[in-house]
Amino acid sequence: MKLLLATRSSHKAGEIREILANVPDLELLDLNDAGLPETPEEEGIEVFETFEDNALAKALHFKLLSGLPTLADDSGLSVDALEGAPGVHSKRFAPDRGLDGQERDDDNNRYLLERLAGVPKSERSARYVCVAVLLGGPDLGLDLPDPLVIRGEAEGRILDTPLGDGGFGYDPLFFDPAIGKGFAELSPEGKNSRSHRGKAFRALAARLEESHG
Ligand code: IMP
Repeated sequence: MKLLLATRSSHKAGEIREILANVPDLELLDLNDAGLPETPEEEGIEVFETFEDNALAKALHFKLLSGLPTLADDSGLSVDALEGAPGVHSKRFAPDRGLDGQERDDDNNRYLLERLAGVPKSERSARYVCVAVLLGGPDLGLDLPDPLVIRGEAEGRILDTPLGDGGFGYDPLFFDPAIGKGFAELSPEGKNSRSHRGKAFRALAARLEESHG
């Protein structure tokens, strides 16, 4: 089973590969493996207001380009005290200062702390959301809905100072009360076992295995 993994984030790709590692007969190609270099029009794919619509749009774009069954996800952080923000805008939450990569993540984290200044611990609840979409499952002979859409969520709380140096994005500010640790304190396996992406892609792995027989 050859599937395209439609992400340009090496962090995400690494997490997803690790989670799907045990699915038999699965070959995951990333966008580089498939010879699909980044284009300016990619900026216009994830313009919708739900994780589901963005993940579907991404899967459709890259399935049309590659001709391969395609796996995409959209994810983000939803903070209750900010009425669900940054949500689908998680990647570009802080006002645009032309930053990228780690600098942008740091800026988003600073901005999140600024927006939550003065909000007490009891009101700093938040969750990570990940929606995984597989488009073209039936092309692989799999008995699956097309698209197959699966949502995973991880509940937590926003810290008031960064903690740990693992993970990426908002992980240094995301605390998991059930295990008493921040996501950036966890090993990659530890994070996958608790995370929104881990939950969504483990459920997806189970569906792939079931329908593969
Ligand atoms: P994307 O649109 O799914 O690539 O992700 C949107 C943004 O959500 C990322 O740029 C991060 O800021 C944030 N995000 C998603 N998943 C995680 C995670 O596991 N840890 C930290 N931040 C995340």
